[in-house]
Amino acid sequence: MAGFSETDGILYAEGVSLARIADATGTPSYVYSASRMLENLQTLRGAFDEVLPVESSPLIAYACKHNTSMSVLSLFARAGTGLDTVSGGEIEKGLASGIKGRDIVFSGVGKTDAEIGLALKHDVLMFAESRPEIERIAALAKAKGVKGRVGLRYNPDVAADTHAKISTGKKENKFGLPAGEIETIYRLASQDPHLQAEGLSVHIGSQIMDLAPFRAAFERLAGMVRALRAAGLRVEITDLGGGLGVPYNGEAPPCLKTYAQIIRDTILPLGTRIIVEPGRLLTADAGLLLTRVLFVKETETKKFLILDAGMSELLRPALYGAYHPVVPLARRTGKEEPYDIVGPICESSDVFGENRMMPPMQAGDLVAVMVAGAMGMTMASAYNTRPLPPEILVSGDRFATVRQRQTVQDIMKTETVPDWITD
Ligand SMILES: *Cc1c(COP(=O)(O)O)cnc(C)c1O
Repeated sequence: MAGFSETDGILYAEGVSLARIADATGTPSYVYSASRMLENLQTLRGAFDEVLPVESSPLIAYACKHNTSMSVLSLFARAGTGLDTVSGGEIEKGLASGIKGRDIVFSGVGKTDAEIGLALKHDVLMFAESRPEIERIAALAKAKGVKGRVGLRYNPDVAADTHAKISTGKKENKFGLPAGEIETIYRLASQDPHLQAEGLSVHIGSQIMDLAPFRAAFERLAGMVRALRAAGLRVEITDLGGGLGVPYNGEAPPCLKTYAQIIRDTILPLGTRIIVEPGRLLTADAGLLLTRVLFVKETETKKFLILDAGMSELLRPALYGAYHPVVPLARRTGKEEPYDIVGPICESSDVFGENRMMPPMQAGDLVAVMVAGAMGMTMASAYNTRPLPPEILVSGDRFATVRQRQTVQDIMKTETVPDWITD
């Protein structure tokens, strides 16, 4: 069984009891289901296969900022995905996992010379977001005597109904180029002997549950491609970004077949090579954060469940006010009561949930923070000098620690105290 499910009142990751993993690795720990990730990929591919002709099947470039475990990257690499990256580090990890440079796209508003150099070396497609960036890529390509593959990120000025901090496609966001600037800069790139202008991308935001903004954005993108072609410019690639939402709290997920139909209706007639960049969709529900109750603290008005994991392990609730289900590993009986579920970090925002109805809980109980496979570990920090948690990958009845728990020694190893302090 892919993913996480309950059998006889006990929570399992595929065929492995999560309590067994907690015994083996301690808490807090991230646990991933390999089968669930592959199943999520297959579901998206299935929707494309059903709706789009096979020769136009989009390249699925996994947006790896959500989960950069080398094992996860290797899993997707072997399943034939490309990669959407936003840093040189992600490009390096992608290459190391076996994904070819030509199947990697590099987005992001601020690329350093070193990052551009790496992308040039491996023929990575760079989506530029400003004129100075295009000029910089051209200069570096010239210096290296290579031709840089570039595209432009178009800001279609479409509002996605999502959290303000993860909406990217409105004109007031820092991302992309407005309609009025695309043609000039695209022409510049097309005419530069050190650049190969490949196409355009859009990415309007993340955790989008209503598909209407995708249709609006893709229609505008198609209009822009037609305008560029009418001006005599060559456009071979359309990259549709990511953004497909997942249920965190029982919401209805967007219909992937409808998403594919929107692509068929808006983008397919262009005859471009199509790239999509899903991230959250592939990994979110395939991961959880395994944690233990340290104390149950009762005040006059509240009961606090104090966990050994907090915002240093999972930042999304503090950063975005994100909701994550929190469930006991073993089903408990007794009258449910409201708990505030908090971490041990010295910040008031270190709260996973308020007034969550749970059966009576005790110190030592194991709980799982669900839907934590996207932007969980990748946003974790060692704040409060709390070593980063390990990552455990489960497949069927096997599991492996794919990243060791950091130690305080690891943290101190990279620090030095100058002798003018100690002498
Ligand atoms: C974050 C991001 C994605 C992935 O978004 P999801 O909502 O996870 O699908 C894709 N493309 C770009 C440019 C991104 O920044």
